[in-house]
Amino acid sequence: MPLKARKTSPKGLISIVVPMFNEAESLQQFYERLLAQLVTLPHDYEIIFVDDGSSDATAALLEKIAAANPRVQAISFSRNFGHQMALTAGLHHTRGDAVIVMDGDLQHPPELIGTLLARWQEGNEVVYTVREDAADTSLFKRVTSHFFYAIINKLTRVQIRPNAADFRLMDRKAVDVMNQCPERFRFLRGLTSWIGFQQTSVTFKAEPRFAGTSKYSIRKMAAFGLDAVTSFSITPLRLVFYLGWMTSFVSFLYILYALYIKLFTDRAIAGWTSVIILILFLGGIQLLFMGIIGEYIGRIYEEIKGRPPYIIKKHVNKK
Ligand code: UDP
Ligand code: MG
Repeated sequence: MPLKARKTSPKGLISIVVPMFNEAESLQQFYERLLAQLVTLPHDYEIIFVDDGSSDATAALLEKIAAANPRVQAISFSRNFGHQMALTAGLHHTRGDAVIVMDGDLQHPPELIGTLLARWQEGNEVVYTVREDAADTSLFKRVTSHFFYAIINKLTRVQIRPNAADFRLMDRKAVDVMNQCPERFRFLRGLTSWIGFQQTSVTFKAEPRFAGTSKYSIRKMAAFGLDAVTSFSITPLRLVFYLGWMTSFVSFLYILYALYIKLFTDRAIAGWTSVIILILFLGGIQLLFMGIIGEYIGRIYEEIKGRPPYIIKKHVNKK
């Protein structure tokens, strides 16, 4: 499909958003490699670092970098709000004609930025990246990620490329739409796919983490998965309806059978076993699905409270 070439002035402003959670060991190296790319561009740039409540020296280092470079903003959260919220806060503060989000652990190579910008200038409004697995990606991460995308793409109407990374370029128009989405349970990969626009992808080879270990604990990964499914699908709620209907139907048949035994045969012994089985079965199903409904109600409650989705403690070089 022929694309309309972008008409914005060649100068333009490029915003880079980087969430950081206890990344003090990679930070300097990351900043230097990023800067080496940015200074070669024909565009102006701004970098928005979001310290997601780190407990190491990340915040202090970011403030030092910001103090030395007015193009760098350092946002510090009052506590850990999670990767997706850090990205969200970063996006809210961007002013660029194009915005690039990337991780700060050097798994997302800054050297790819030129390619992303080239795709953008061809007229694409979202350029997302797909990661070829790094050699050090654990089997566990590979397997969980495989199932994650299989489930998301089955249960929800948004389609997400397996291995899509939170490393992507978005045009100002796309960022404005994202910033207008008020929900606090955010699954940005889904949201980026959902907003539409002209999208294209670029593959890259994820490097091993420069330092430290993954900041995604199993608990964070589970919460991430649950947010992903419930943000884009009410299928689990619908399952309740279908399953409830099916169990009622089967129970009804069983009642007919019980009545038949009682009225037309002499085999009617006090049916302790069947009673117990039925009670357990129905009780189990009911509890399970009350849990699913509760999950959604809990989210409605969280959304309705209208609390700020994240809290900024300090913002250096705020524009
Ligand atoms: N991160 C964050 N808050 C968190 C967890 C992670 O801001 O609660 C940041 C982290 O510093 C990194 C990015 O999100 O820049 C991706 O995290 P990580 O590299 O640990 O995830 P993985 O690559 O293992 O999926
Ligand atoms: Mg990483």
